[in-house]
Amino acid sequence: MAGSTQHGVVIIGAGQAGAQAVVSLRAEGYEGPIRLIGDEAEPPYQRPPLSKKFLAGEIGFDRVELKPAEFYAGAHCELLLGTRAVEINRAEHYVKTSDGRAVPYDKLLIATGSRVREINVPGFDLDGVHYLRTVGDVSEIQAHFKPGAKLVVVGGGYIGLEVAAVARKNGIDVTVLETAERVMARVVDPIVSRFYERIHKEAGVVIRTGVTVAGFEGANNKVERVVSGEGDSFPCDFVVVGVGIIPNVELAQSAGLTVENGIVVDECARTNDPDICAAGDCTNHPSGIYGRRLRLESVQNAIEQGKAAAAALTGKNKPYDQVPWFWSDQYDLKLQIAGLSSGYTQAVTRGDPETGRSFAVFYLKDGVLIAVDAVNRAPEFMMSKTLIAKHAKLDPARLADETINMKEVANA
Ligand code: FAD
Repeated sequence: MAGSTQHGVVIIGAGQAGAQAVVSLRAEGYEGPIRLIGDEAEPPYQRPPLSKKFLAGEIGFDRVELKPAEFYAGAHCELLLGTRAVEINRAEHYVKTSDGRAVPYDKLLIATGSRVREINVPGFDLDGVHYLRTVGDVSEIQAHFKPGAKLVVVGGGYIGLEVAAVARKNGIDVTVLETAERVMARVVDPIVSRFYERIHKEAGVVIRTGVTVAGFEGANNKVERVVSGEGDSFPCDFVVVGVGIIPNVELAQSAGLTVENGIVVDECARTNDPDICAAGDCTNHPSGIYGRRLRLESVQNAIEQGKAAAAALTGKNKPYDQVPWFWSDQYDLKLQIAGLSSGYTQAVTRGDPETGRSFAVFYLKDGVLIAVDAVNRAPEFMMSKTLIAKHAKLDPARLADETINMKEVANA
């Protein structure tokens, strides 16, 4: 078999990047053995719907899984699910698993993703305090979805706000607690934060900013209230905490791979070991577009790095250097984000975020477009992706002028 080797490729992490690598290895013509090791019971699935349509019960697992189970058999990929990789032995080229196996490899891909950041405050282990990362977490949260139930969401980032929107639509009383002075402060301009605060308030969600969670209290081991450092108490029947993630780098680190805010990889997803690549949330990669290293938490990053890694594992160079993009669905609103806005010197608004439900905010750095947040504005999002990659210098007045369409703005 062309490209066949003795032990083949082993992939640790049966998620977005790992599944993409299986598809891409075969697309690259690789014919050797592939083994996919995943510690979850399910075959690889998409996480975005977990805080959107899947949480809302609008779609089932069949619409969330990345490929039907038969795909892996057809691709001659052995799935080792419910199995945790506990050690990588680089000298002898094998992965030790939680069930005591030593799985040999010729080439290895680490696609271990990330895990939720937990808040370590008194009462953190009370029943009813939830995080959201897996399909199992969704079932536990959904069990509380009864009209009139009280939910406190800790963290006003994308995931917290998406959960708030779904819960509200299910008739739940929702309070969002955010430590910063505004929601989504880490990623968007105040214009966008204010817009989402208005939308959630109009939907009946209570948003409290500048609140530090000091603990969870309850009776019979069940959460009944969230208490803040400012001395307030927020009654609840359940809590969903969404305060960020931590990349799963420990396996790579113990194996002596270079780790600095993620597993350090090159533009082709290679680590400092020629036989090991890494892809997805767990990595830190160079961005030619931004001229610095990035650790991204997005589907696009997992897919594109999964492709680059598959090529590199088969001896090819397919560098990944794209404008990062992301999305968030809340109520009837699709927020599409292209680029990274940190360091912007001017934010230009097109449309009316004060009263409307459709607008875009363009982030310029010394006149050059570096990012966009587009709410129900697909054309602005699409055009911006291209313009950001080109480092386009744009006229702010024309960007803001709705009578000039985006093509004309771009061509000026
Ligand atoms: P994952 O998909 O997390 O896969 C990693 C897998 O590796 C996991 O199954 C993990 O359990 C497993 N694993 C870890 N360690 C081991 C080990 N030692 N042995 C075996 N298996 C191991 N991104 C967007 O772009 N848009 C969105 O709207 C969006 N919404 C999101 C909503 C939610 C609720 C969540 C949780 C994430 C969302 N994301 C979104 C982020 C996106 O899902 C991730 O960036 C993406 O899944 C990363 O893919 P990955 O393959 O790196 O990691």
